Amino acid sequence: MNEMQQQAPHTGLVIDAHGLTKRFHDGTLDVEVLRGVDLEVHAGETLAIVGASGSGKSTLLHLLGGLDAPTSGSVRLMGQELSKLDPAAQGRLRNRYLGFVYQFHHLLPEFSALDNVGMPLRIRRLPVEEMNQAAAEMLAAVGLEHRMKHRPAELSGGERQRVAIARALVAHPACVLADEPTGNLDRGTADGVFQLMLQLARDRGTAFVMVTHDEQLAARCGRMVRLTSGKLDA
Ligand code: ADP
Ligand code: MG
Repeated sequence: MNEMQQQAPHTGLVIDAHGLTKRFHDGTLDVEVLRGVDLEVHAGETLAIVGASGSGKSTLLHLLGGLDAPTSGSVRLMGQELSKLDPAAQGRLRNRYLGFVYQFHHLLPEFSALDNVGMPLRIRRLPVEEMNQAAAEMLAAVGLEHRMKHRPAELSGGERQRVAIARALVAHPACVLADEPTGNLDRGTADGVFQLMLQLARDRGTAFVMVTHDEQLAARCGRMVRLTSGKLDA
């Protein structure tokens, strides 16, 4: 079946994390960053994770996205427990259901905005024409229909993040995990990019989990949780 034809809104529980702990061994130092985190992400919701620098926000997001494994505890993505899958199956599940946005855009410098956005579809071996059409539609949805041919270096910081958001959404994930997506932008631009993500979540029914230390922005999400001493408070 062509995955792109399956665009009905996702429903129910997207991510279900239970009892997560994460310990890093750094030389002789043993750091326990997460000390028992439970978190559910429901389809279509916008959730902000706030916390001081070094509190473990990125670590938590990596675990939720299956980019790293917890020391103990479990993460289910669309009902499937990640630790029970081999790396290839984990990768497929991640590609199918998740999109990622980072503080620094991680766009490929030699490629146009259109090609960067199309990349997740190219990886899925979609025909070029379908890929370009979907990428163009996604760029239009983030207000960049006039920047398709531009390379990252020819775009402003806010435009680059919008391209990164379009790339994260192009394959219709159930959830986008965003790590300080506006952390590198000035206040006004950050505001616009954040607003765009909230609007996309509403329009498309995509859940967004956003890590931010900006509580003003976080307060605009449907829900906010705080990471303190390795645990989450609502
Ligand atoms: P935040 O994103 O909230 O700023 P991080 O999740 O990046 O925090 O880091 C939380 C803590 O875990 C920090 O003390 C950091 O030094 C430590 N840490 C993160 N990743 C590693 C790693 N790969 N090895 C050792 N320590 C790490
Ligand atoms: Mg971080």
